[in-house]
Amino acid sequence: MRWQGRRQSDNVEDQRGEGGGGFPGGGRFRIPGGSGLRTAGGGGFSGILILAAIFLFLKFCTNIDPMQILVDSGGGQLVPGQTQSDTSVKNNDETTQFAKTVLAETEDVWSGIFKAEGQTYPAPTMVLFSDQVRSACGFASAASGPFYCPGDRKLYIDLSFYDELDKKFGASGDFAQAYVLAHEVGHHVQNLIGVLPKFNQMRQNMSEAEANAMSVRVELQADCFAGIWGHFTEQKGILDVGDLDEALNAAQQIGDDTMQRKTQGYVVPESFNHGTSDQRSKWFKRGFDSGKLDNCDTFSGSI
Ligand SMILES: [Zn+2]
Repeated sequence: MRWQGRRQSDNVEDQRGEGGGGFPGGGRFRIPGGSGLRTAGGGGFSGILILAAIFLFLKFCTNIDPMQILVDSGGGQLVPGQTQSDTSVKNNDETTQFAKTVLAETEDVWSGIFKAEGQTYPAPTMVLFSDQVRSACGFASAASGPFYCPGDRKLYIDLSFYDELDKKFGASGDFAQAYVLAHEVGHHVQNLIGVLPKFNQMRQNMSEAEANAMSVRVELQADCFAGIWGHFTEQKGILDVGDLDEALNAAQQIGDDTMQRKTQGYVVPESFNHGTSDQRSKWFKRGFDSGKLDNCDTFSGSI
């Protein structure tokens, strides 16, 4: 990806080296999201369609941790906590600049898509952290992998995850790294169009297996949204030959089946919550090929 020299986002908080401030003293967990839907009255936003489909998809009861869905590509858990903020960027190395540039590119693409629907795109903030961090969704360690918190509309990433992506997951290349960020931004879009708030509300009444199945659909849609971003990025002519393959390979490598096979040697399909390798790459490709939200309805039919 030819990202050098392009605009870098200012919507960045650098909390590296702060250690997350330790565990919080018993703040009560609250389901994030639920307000701030920006699409009402917009007309034509396929989020509305998707939402209706979510409603239909749902019907059941039991409790499950509503935070699981926000944790991508890792096994960690979040616990309740408060947010810290520091808007300065301490270490502006190449990886940091890359992440800021990719974030800016997502801002441009999604602003354009929202504008076409008569809406304004409220950009998310990217929090850079090292080791551990507190978010409105709870406390997370780097082991959790990158995640998005709908409660504060921030995406969190420890950039050392990129090494892990390369060495542990076998997903190398800058566009693989860009895909990871674009996926989290995809969750932000889901938050804005009402998909995440609805899901977090509904999953409280689902069994774990049902919530996992629904989570897969939510995650695949975030992959599809990442693909939409890729589509418009390609149109700008800044992708290199092989970039698409890097993203598709990353989607393959972090599929639930591949990860489980690697980490435990066997797969447990009922526990899948992000989608199989084939599903993840398929939905990314759908978004990439079409550039259309309508092609990212992961809630109707088979996936
Ligand atoms: Zn995700």
